[in-house]
Amino acid sequence: MGTDHAHRHYGDEMLSVEEAQEYILRAMNVLESEEKPLSEAIGQVLAQDLVSKINIPPLTNSAMDGYAVRHEDITEASEHTPIYLQVIDEIAAGSLPLKQVTPGTASRIMTGAPIPNGADTVIPFEDTDEPQRTERRESVMVPGRVAIKYLSPKGSSVRPFGQDIKQGQLVYPAGTVIRSVDLGGLASIGLGQVPVVRRPIVSILSTGDELVLPGEKLDDGKIYDANGVGLIAAVRASGGIPNFVGIARDNVDDLNDKLDECLRGDLLITSAGVSKGDFDVVKDVLSARGEMGFWSVRMRPGKPLAFGMLYDDSGKAIPHLGLPGNPVSALVAFEIFARPSIRKMLGIPNVFRNTVDAVLQDSIENNDGRRVYARVIIRYQDGGFIASTTGNQGSNLLSSMLKSNGLAICPENQKFIRAGDQVQVHVTDWDRVEYVS
Ligand code: AMP
Ligand code: MG
Repeated sequence: MGTDHAHRHYGDEMLSVEEAQEYILRAMNVLESEEKPLSEAIGQVLAQDLVSKINIPPLTNSAMDGYAVRHEDITEASEHTPIYLQVIDEIAAGSLPLKQVTPGTASRIMTGAPIPNGADTVIPFEDTDEPQRTERRESVMVPGRVAIKYLSPKGSSVRPFGQDIKQGQLVYPAGTVIRSVDLGGLASIGLGQVPVVRRPIVSILSTGDELVLPGEKLDDGKIYDANGVGLIAAVRASGGIPNFVGIARDNVDDLNDKLDECLRGDLLITSAGVSKGDFDVVKDVLSARGEMGFWSVRMRPGKPLAFGMLYDDSGKAIPHLGLPGNPVSALVAFEIFARPSIRKMLGIPNVFRNTVDAVLQDSIENNDGRRVYARVIIRYQDGGFIASTTGNQGSNLLSSMLKSNGLAICPENQKFIRAGDQVQVHVTDWDRVEYVS
């Protein structure tokens, strides 16, 4: 990103949300891949095509507890004229058949056990005299006779090898996001670990002389750092690994020290100190260490935004996103700019959230031509989504965020959305979407 271009947008001209997103996402690269144990790979993206080296199931096996038979031996079987077969073997799941099924014989077989040579059909216990045989306590039934009382079609209760997954089959293509349900499938083809795009390490730094870490004593004039922990959680929920560096005071030395700790990661997120009216210390330090743009984005909350590249001593650059200080602005700006960045680094194809249409219950006002992201509670009722704002939308009021599960969009050029109108909503928390019938 050219310094000139970025700086052109400082102050006077505003960037649209899309322009800002485009600049930022262009600077984000998909990270390298790593081998991850299966159980830890959830949520990460496959870096290579996964082809099965084996058939699943590996051997043709029984779908029932029963008797493996030659179908041609039993075509005359009926309840009143059962066919008697000599039981020659018993095959448990995990063991191999010892004997071939020859005319007039059968092997007792358990679910999942391999079908012996010669047999083509499994007759379930229920269709034999198995209960009486068990009553007669014929130990493990071998040797002895079994009566086949009901006929099944040829091939019944036999699961052919490769029925589920064939050797050489593409199980998942590169780019697949691994969900919990996928893990069983990957385990079944024998993978102990998988190649996935590594998770980005995201350094988080709060800035401001007024900030105190939660849990510590609050002196007059100070406030607790709400952004640090909020951003830690947001980074984790987006798939990144948070590295919370703490609070940097508004002075050159402390900022520089803290920035040194931040540059080891893949992305740096700071909050506060970047808006137009701020003392220039944060902006000066950042500008001295890289190419930073200090932007005004046509959105509310979250207008002031800094973005650029910071360099360490070796010349390595990492992208830096400077979020506004107000906690609501910081979280909304995170949602719009940082979450897609982290998802792009993770290799996730769709970096943005899907939106749903909802009917607005109250109204959203837009008086200065910016895109409004109103915090709403969305729920599903009477066949559709309805959204209500969470009250006073001041960007300093975290309470407006607490109950919300979505962000409703009022477009830049629209002065208000009235009750009863349709509104587009980014659902930020599906687990909190209530379904009312
Ligand atoms: P600034 O962007 O530095 O002008 O900060 C804007 C507002 O956000 C000020 O009222 C700050 O006190 C407040 N603020 C900045 N950082 C934090 C934080 N980490 N937690 C809570 N409030 C903050
Ligand atoms: Mg400040």
